Amino acid sequence: MKLRNKLFIDGKWVDASDGKTLPVIDPSTNSEIARVSAGTPDDVAKAAEAARRCFESGAWSGLTILQRSEILNRVGLLIRERTRELAELESRDVGKPLCETLNFDIPGGGQTFSYFAGLAVDLCGQTIPAPVNEVLNYTVREPIGVVGMIIPWNFPFLVACRKVASALAAGNCVVIKPATWAPLSTLALADLLAEAGVPPGAVNVVTGTGSAVGAAMVQHPMIHDISFTGSTEVGKTVMGGCVGPLKRCGLELGGKSPAVVLPDCDMDETIGGTLFGAYLAQGECCCAATRMLVHEAVYDEFVERFVAGSKAIRVGLPLAEGTQHGALIHKEHLASVLRFVEAGKKSRARLACGGSALTQPPFDRGNFLPPTVFVDVAPDSVISREEIFGPVVIVTKARDEKELVQLANDSNYGLAASLWTTNLKAGHRIAAQLKAGTVWMNLHNFVFATGPYGGYKESGIGRELGREGLLSLTQTKSIMLSLYDPPFQWYRDAAKEEAR
Ligand code: NAD
Repeated sequence: MKLRNKLFIDGKWVDASDGKTLPVIDPSTNSEIARVSAGTPDDVAKAAEAARRCFESGAWSGLTILQRSEILNRVGLLIRERTRELAELESRDVGKPLCETLNFDIPGGGQTFSYFAGLAVDLCGQTIPAPVNEVLNYTVREPIGVVGMIIPWNFPFLVACRKVASALAAGNCVVIKPATWAPLSTLALADLLAEAGVPPGAVNVVTGTGSAVGAAMVQHPMIHDISFTGSTEVGKTVMGGCVGPLKRCGLELGGKSPAVVLPDCDMDETIGGTLFGAYLAQGECCCAATRMLVHEAVYDEFVERFVAGSKAIRVGLPLAEGTQHGALIHKEHLASVLRFVEAGKKSRARLACGGSALTQPPFDRGNFLPPTVFVDVAPDSVISREEIFGPVVIVTKARDEKELVQLANDSNYGLAASLWTTNLKAGHRIAAQLKAGTVWMNLHNFVFATGPYGGYKESGIGRELGREGLLSLTQTKSIMLSLYDPPFQWYRDAAKEEAR
């Protein structure tokens, strides 16, 4: 697989209009591994025009649903065939362990294409019962046109696959902006799409910064819909930018997800599940379990075992065998996470493990922070309220079920939550009260292509994935047909009345 570093516009690899480039940095060494084109607003315009031309020509949207489905299936197969290469590329670029990219990110991307290949052939409208028998009313689901996609660095391949597969399945064309800090796997995806038979112009990739490329996409009149995944702060700016040109906008934003631990939980399952929930992708995960809210009856046992489990996680170089916890994406991001850690140290909370970046070889050149746990954390402290986006977990004690629910919902975010219990009644009772787009019971961080995903409150607007995600990338047309025989006469009769 060739390492791509240019823009992909209208099926061709081209330099940025001003020839400038940006570095791609390996998070485990902070050394440059590639340079990619720094796209400009001019490049966004070229990509949007190519996507528009492709859409209008019907080269993609005019294919039969079976032809589109076949091509999307082929993309899924190609991803499966190249799993190893893609996983190594993603681990180098993002800093996450190879065992994760091999088993989760890349296969998840392939499954997403296979799933939407199937769903593409089942994109149905409805027959609407009209209030008069002489009118037949039905709806069809049509593509929106050109969808602009802006993606984050934490799951760049998986998020790109989710957005591109669903948009193409609905018949749209695409301009995608990869994450500035981790663009390589999105560029690799462009190659696979072309190889599978996606026509030139149907998917265009413009690398570069958010302020140049992302902002230009939001403004460009030929891009009809923005599908954004990233921080709440930037999401609000993007939504504001969509007001002027009045374009549709879907937002998948940040989170501060709770794990609610009840006294009757299976503690082995709870510890294993919450460790996975907290530290997948070094905690750089939008739905990570970052707030452990624990019933006082099991608080001490949970703290002891969760802290022991956190200490046992093997930090290592992303590509090394046995690594469970890699490097944070960028030294600037590590500095931001460490600022929160310092705020935690200054609070009344107790630091139970971690708390300092690793400075010994082989970690001294990279951005490594081991699992860090603060216990006895007050719910109003900064580390309890802000999204830290790293391996930093807080543990808070609650008296009873009522307080657990109140603490879980006491957040501006509402992306996800998990519940740890063997009591079905309590589980469903609490699930109904949690204000979050996804509630897991005895699971955390399970997101499949098949089910809708998105946030409540400041965690987002709209849903990606599943049938709902596909429908959100379509628009509904209502078609009515007269069955009157003789033809409907009202206007003519009214005109005759008027003439008399
Ligand atoms: P970010 O908001 O900084 O950047 C996201 C994308 O927006 C990047 O491609 C960036 O270049 C671009 N961007 C920046 N400024 C822009 C602007 N003015 N106009 C248009 N685009 C602009 O987020 P990040 O640091 O890349 O990712 C981490 C954040 O993403 C976290 O908050 C995390 O919770 C969130 N996230 C959410 C989900 C979800 O599904 N809800 C999934 C992954 C990550």
